[in-house]
Amino acid sequence: MSNLYTLNIEQVVNGIKNGEFTSEEYVSQIIERIKKVDKKINSFITINDNALVQARQIDKKIRSGWTVDSLAGIVVGVKDNISTAGLKTTCASKMLSDYVPPYDATVIKRLKDKGAIIIGKLNLDEFAMGSTTEWSSYGLTRNPWNLDYVCGGSSGGSAASVAAQLCTASLGSDTGGSVRCPSSFCSVVGFKPTYGLVSRYGLVSYSNSLEQIGSIGRTVSDVKKIMEVISGKDTNDNTTIDTKNNNINNNHYDLEQNNNQKIGLLKELINGADEPVYQCIYSAIDKFNEFGFTSEESSLKSSEYALASYYTIATAEASSNLARFDNIRYGFELNPDDYEWNTYFSKARGNFGDEVKRRIIVGSFVLSSGYYGKYYLKAQRVKDLIKIELKNLFKEYDLLLSPTVPVLPFKIGEKIDDPLKMYLIDINTVLANLAGIPAISIPIGFKNGLPIGLQIMADEFQEKKLLDIAEVLEKSININTSYPDL
Ligand code: GLN
Repeated sequence: MSNLYTLNIEQVVNGIKNGEFTSEEYVSQIIERIKKVDKKINSFITINDNALVQARQIDKKIRSGWTVDSLAGIVVGVKDNISTAGLKTTCASKMLSDYVPPYDATVIKRLKDKGAIIIGKLNLDEFAMGSTTEWSSYGLTRNPWNLDYVCGGSSGGSAASVAAQLCTASLGSDTGGSVRCPSSFCSVVGFKPTYGLVSRYGLVSYSNSLEQIGSIGRTVSDVKKIMEVISGKDTNDNTTIDTKNNNINNNHYDLEQNNNQKIGLLKELINGADEPVYQCIYSAIDKFNEFGFTSEESSLKSSEYALASYYTIATAEASSNLARFDNIRYGFELNPDDYEWNTYFSKARGNFGDEVKRRIIVGSFVLSSGYYGKYYLKAQRVKDLIKIELKNLFKEYDLLLSPTVPVLPFKIGEKIDDPLKMYLIDINTVLANLAGIPAISIPIGFKNGLPIGLQIMADEFQEKKLLDIAEVLEKSININTSYPDL
């Protein structure tokens, strides 16, 4: 069979189970395609040389009558800030250029336990700080739909590889939009769960109070299947919660009985979008109305302070989380005995890229004595305010809508020299991280060949409702039938 790389999770698992093709055939085709296509987009940092061996093991188990696991034989790409035992995890930083973790992140362990094969590690902005995947020490990742354009970030490799059909699905991390923004720019589905739904054990921390690991796929159904496996309590991450009663594993959300959904259109976020994005959002909203859902304008007044609050908290936490990279426990060849103390540290920490250095400096400043109350504390108060305001909105609305990103993908190099312009890209996505609520980006159209995504947010732990409704909308919009020609 040819073109196996086009298949979705269900088709891969069933195809292997029913003997239509082997796991080895599937993985071989994917590896061939990566070799051919990834030269153009640069979504991979490392390819797992063991993938074919693992595929053969699956084939062998199937031949000996094994009951096939739910993800058997699918090929998952992993953002390179999630630890994979025996497989380099660089965070796209020179700092960790040859770091090989001794253990698997919980999400990786759970995927492997269900038969998924980790195909490789995907490009990102260094330590997940950025919105375009241009800040990587391994070169930027290009948008598969137009190679002159950015692919979004920071999980750019995770979104571009799924769009380019180089893996069945992928994992990303989302601190302020890093799963959703590149998903929107690459026309794939990206989901950030409620804070605490997925274990962060093994995720290299950037801003630990805001981030979650999320999944990216070509359909909502694929994203759900990954989430079902990776979510749930983990004793290695005390912020995870037991999801037995309210997670996505339960039965389908009953849309027949719940077709009176009330949707809030976040006017500050929609009106702030560029014209083509704005137009596209309104045609998607018409589809919602066709299902009998009602929608009306709603307002989130505190949204104007969200970005400032996000960047204050995120940089503060980053400055503290990144303090551990001192080249002592891991790093490169630099002998502390050969240098005076300060010279040693500035040499070692000089290996961070410019954007990471900027975040560490800003973060140290907002936490410094005399400024703590003025910046960090205030940012935390805004965070609480946004949480309360959203909670109140969810008393009235089942879901809240906005564009995922207010602009179309733009040309490579266009914003890299202007950090504030770059930060503005995150204006709609940071809300869900500040409030800890689930949010998804689904593809809803194109303008001049460039993708546009719709963001749907729900109250905390309402992932089942959110994902099921996103699936209904995805089917009705039905734009996911074509893929970039690479
Ligand atoms: N662009 C945002 C930032 O640079 C979000 C990054 C992320 O979600 N990891 O902080």
